[in-house]
Amino acid sequence: MPGVMTVRGPVAAGELGRVDAHEHLFLRTPALPGDDFWDEEKSTAEARLVGESGIRTVVDLTPVGLGRRPSALARLAEASGLHVIAATGYHRSAHDPSGHWARPVDADVLVDVLVQDLTTGIDDRDWSGRTPRRPASGPAS
Ligand SMILES: [Zn+2]
Repeated sequence: MPGVMTVRGPVAAGELGRVDAHEHLFLRTPALPGDDFWDEEKSTAEARLVGESGIRTVVDLTPVGLGRRPSALARLAEASGLHVIAATGYHRSAHDPSGHWARPVDADVLVDVLVQDLTTGIDDRDWSGRTPRRPASGPAS
């Protein structure tokens, strides 16, 4: 079925309804200390309010390494009734935790992570604490 891939599977474009195109349902960044969005119950409650406002779909633009939680997003989507589209990408270095693997690695590895996110799904630990390897050498460890 052609459609838009959400955290719970593909949805026909005509079913997306009104879209909030830039949201962070979960986020943890050193650039905003103490301003984390990490409580699943609070995020789900806020998602329900978003749904009650007439929005049917939320695009979560949280980048690699900043607290993407695909399983929690799927639970939130189911509980709130929203369609949630998760993104991939990198933010500027100010948002990387100290020593994060993303800055010293080759561009090819950065690209491989994005491609894996798009083709096999987002790593449930958001690549935290792990240095991805090229897919040709096996899955990230
Ligand atoms: Zn943003």
